[in-house]
Amino acid sequence: MKLLEGKKVIITGASRGIGKGIAEVFADHGADVAFTYSSSEAPALELEKALSSKGVKAKAYKSNAASFEESEKLVARVLEDFGGIDVLINNAGITRDNLLMRMGEDDFDKVIETNLKSVFNMTKAVQRTLLKQRQGSIINMSSVVGVKGNAGQTNYAASKAGMIGFTKSVALELGSRNIRCNAIAPGFIETEMTAKLDEKTVQGWRDAIPLKRGGTPADVANACLFLASDLSTYVTGQVLNVDGGMLT
Ligand code: NDP
Repeated sequence: MKLLEGKKVIITGASRGIGKGIAEVFADHGADVAFTYSSSEAPALELEKALSSKGVKAKAYKSNAASFEESEKLVARVLEDFGGIDVLINNAGITRDNLLMRMGEDDFDKVIETNLKSVFNMTKAVQRTLLKQRQGSIINMSSVVGVKGNAGQTNYAASKAGMIGFTKSVALELGSRNIRCNAIAPGFIETEMTAKLDEKTVQGWRDAIPLKRGGTPADVANACLFLASDLSTYVTGQVLNVDGGMLT
């Protein structure tokens, strides 16, 4: 059964990793997919082609999610190209890890702008459209680190915890218009982001996971599928952990 037939979706940061996994699963379920990247043009165009071959409309856009102005322009272009938006997935994110003692101001600002301010930018840009049609689903890619904290990631943890507060507030503000807003808190997912970690750290994460493996982008994408589709019409303001039981 295709769960997103006829739905129009925007995903930020889908040239690789979790975003790409979401784009693939959503296209398999019949969604038209607009997605962004910041610099990886070749993989983004390759993904655009692969998604289009599944028989849905798909388009890659270069757009910096940290920029308010670019986000507004992006949404205007997507509305022109796709004729509507039903689902927004705020997935773009970066890390600039360091102990607080050594963290520079720029590392803090960059992570907050890319991970948290971007969510404000994009949600604001789609809000009017979702309000008019009196339906919509917004999904914010937070992290287990935003729930429990992590040494060496004060900037990242603050951005991900901020996303959870933002998610719950949007759910309260827009619920009466049938617009749902939820967050996903992935645990350790094997992507380029986590490939930067040393083997000892990775083993430590794996040991702490009851299911004894790292997650895949598809594991996270399937949770997004639930939150984007009509399977979750009575679910809003929630944080869904997709972490192999890590926070249990
Ligand atoms: P990757 O580093 O593999 O991919 C990040 C994606 O975001 C890329 O497509 C990148 O595009 C894009 N991106 C980065 N900066 C911007 C920007 N300013 N504007 C638009 N797009 C941007 O990360 P993951 O797939 O691992 O992570 C995806 C999300 O999931 C992030 O928010 C991350 O914090 C979160 N997450 C990941 C976990 C994990 O274990 N992997 C765990 C918990 C949460 P480009 O290639 O062009 O730079």
